[in-house]
Amino acid sequence: MKYPKALEKLIESFQIYPGIGPKTAERLAFFTFLKMKDEDVISFSKNLLRLKNELKYCSECGVLTDEDKCEICSDSSRERRLIIVEGTKDVNVFEKTGQFFGRYHVLNGLISPLNGVGPEDINLQSLLKRVENEKIEEIIVATSATIEGEMTALYIKNLLENRSIKVSRIGYGLPAGGDIEYADEITLIKALEGRKEM
Ligand SMILES: [Zn+2]
Repeated sequence: MKYPKALEKLIESFQIYPGIGPKTAERLAFFTFLKMKDEDVISFSKNLLRLKNELKYCSECGVLTDEDKCEICSDSSRERRLIIVEGTKDVNVFEKTGQFFGRYHVLNGLISPLNGVGPEDINLQSLLKRVENEKIEEIIVATSATIEGEMTALYIKNLLENRSIKVSRIGYGLPAGGDIEYADEITLIKALEGRKEM
């Protein structure tokens, strides 16, 4: 038997999410009809739209925010140091350690020739300008220890060559191939402390 159209459609929608297969999507769709209150369904769909309408990249650092300039970039007490990360989730992880008082630069991707992603496709253009405007004294490259992460780190190092700025790379204690976003706080603090000049 075929499910009614409305049910079929919602099952299809849930399957757009990574990691959600037909069975889970079916369970979520049934749950939505059988268990969720009307107001919860309304607020859920409103939240989806709100996310798409209000979320944007910070004009300075590239982190996801609902302001033009994010909270961290707006905070003038932050030190003149930058941690360069792949995505917004990484910023969150470093902020949670409570051990870093500088700012961030979010690439929103990594250089990956195999996938056709070059330096111009990620948020690198504004980096040199930021280094000058914000009088940045140190850059800590915190891309993951993957091939793409290493390649991107090397590119950044070359980009900043011939400038009197300290460029270091975290690494100590991070598993090879490991993603920053899954690292625990202690590992991350150690990695930050053990950063090596590039
Ligand atoms: Zn920002």
